[in-house]
Amino acid sequence: MTSFGFKFDNTYLHLPKAFHTKLLPTPVSKPELVVLNTSLATDLGLNFSDKSAEQQAALFAGSQIPEEAEPFAQAYAGHQFGHFTMLGDGRAIVWGEHITPRGQRVDLQFKGSGPTPYSRGGDGRAAIGPMLREYIISEAMHALNIPTTRSLAVVTNGEQVYRETPLPGAILTRVASSHIRVGTFQFAALQQDREAIKSLFDYTIKRHLPHIEEKQNKPLSLLKSVIEKQAELITHWMRVGFVHGVMNTDNMVLSGETIDYGPCAFMDTYDPNTVFSSIDHMGRYAYANQPAIAQWNLARFAETLLPLLDDDFDKAKEVAEEAINGFGVVYKEKSLSMLRGKIGLFGEQSEDESLITDLLMWMHQQNADYTNTFMDLTNELPPKGERYESDAFKEWYARWQVRLTKNTEPLESSLSLMRSNNPVVIPRNHRVEQVLDAATKGDLQPLKNLLAVLQEPYNNRRDLKSYQFPPKPEEKVCQTFCGT
Ligand code: AMP
Ligand code: MG
Repeated sequence: MTSFGFKFDNTYLHLPKAFHTKLLPTPVSKPELVVLNTSLATDLGLNFSDKSAEQQAALFAGSQIPEEAEPFAQAYAGHQFGHFTMLGDGRAIVWGEHITPRGQRVDLQFKGSGPTPYSRGGDGRAAIGPMLREYIISEAMHALNIPTTRSLAVVTNGEQVYRETPLPGAILTRVASSHIRVGTFQFAALQQDREAIKSLFDYTIKRHLPHIEEKQNKPLSLLKSVIEKQAELITHWMRVGFVHGVMNTDNMVLSGETIDYGPCAFMDTYDPNTVFSSIDHMGRYAYANQPAIAQWNLARFAETLLPLLDDDFDKAKEVAEEAINGFGVVYKEKSLSMLRGKIGLFGEQSEDESLITDLLMWMHQQNADYTNTFMDLTNELPPKGERYESDAFKEWYARWQVRLTKNTEPLESSLSLMRSNNPVVIPRNHRVEQVLDAATKGDLQPLKNLLAVLQEPYNNRRDLKSYQFPPKPEEKVCQTFCGT
């Protein structure tokens, strides 16, 4: 154990050589700590409090790697916007696997730590804005009870990175249950060696699903488990109005965590076609497309497992197709149950689905704010405001009240069910942009304020008002740029 509390136990490097390249982060000139997640550090069993600011900055810049760390970059492939490409960590380096006090194994990873053999001409660096965006949104997702990678720290590196303009360079330290992606399996499947896919498969089972070891068809169990986790994850995203923005197969991890916060954002006005990414011209990754895209990605995952699913290719295909088609059913069930939760319904009634669809349709027609509308419903009294005076809304409200009387639980339980499903504060994109703009200019106070507010997203309180307003027309941020 090192003085910081690191407890490394690196297993990924046991995979065949094709899967990784050992290398060190590129030294940086003048690292400075921007933000450190002390509560996450405590959960991880790490303690930096007795270290100087310089020592902390050097650690999170990769200049002073802990002794037992064995840094490496991972190889992977992926479908980006539907097109297959060889990829790999082009600007990320895993320090190694750390074991937490509760016995969990996590990857610690630098993002923006310099070029690797997989950089494909990129500079291997990151700008402060996108790294802080990942920090803010991933920590907000965690507080919203949504599976996600976490952010431990961001440092600036004292250098400029050149995008459209020169920007302060930064490095993020990410914590993830693993970085085994659908794209890692796609990479393995491409090797001229069946052992490659078999070894990655065995490794994944050992790391994420040791309990299925005894089951008969382990590959099918893995596939079904990943399908289940992704259906669960997308349901959460839909619940809070999250648009990931780059659901490429390399950005989908088997652990079921949200990963790679690039051009992601939360929807303000309810519109199923919402897209933020500046490069998503066709709306491939629009809000309402996310379940279908998850299924498409899972089909790519299933393809990589074909040689393991059955020795008979046709049989393997049949099994895989059946499992992939099952995503629709699993997702539909989870989604309906989540939407019931958002309007406080217990039990199942035949009218539930149309009640929910009609509310969403009304919100769409009204350009109503997704988060605030659900929040407004989370009171005993009817919501106040011009929009709620319309006959269309009053009619819907009356239907809802009738449905609530069929609930198997008292009204108090309905309200608390709604309160645990409907956040009162989300990282609204215009707020995030304001904070990033200030931080880029050296003012970190707005960042600190926003991070504090996002820690309790289900607890309504007075000081939240300014974070709850949707953007004014002049504040609206329509496009978010990739984290490159
Ligand atoms: P992402 O869209 O962040 O998932 O990145 C897609 C691929 O591009 C991954 O292989 C990244 O490692 C790589 N990449 C992104 N930005 C850079 C960069 N500045 N330098 C090198 N590689 C990069
Ligand atoms: Mg990625």
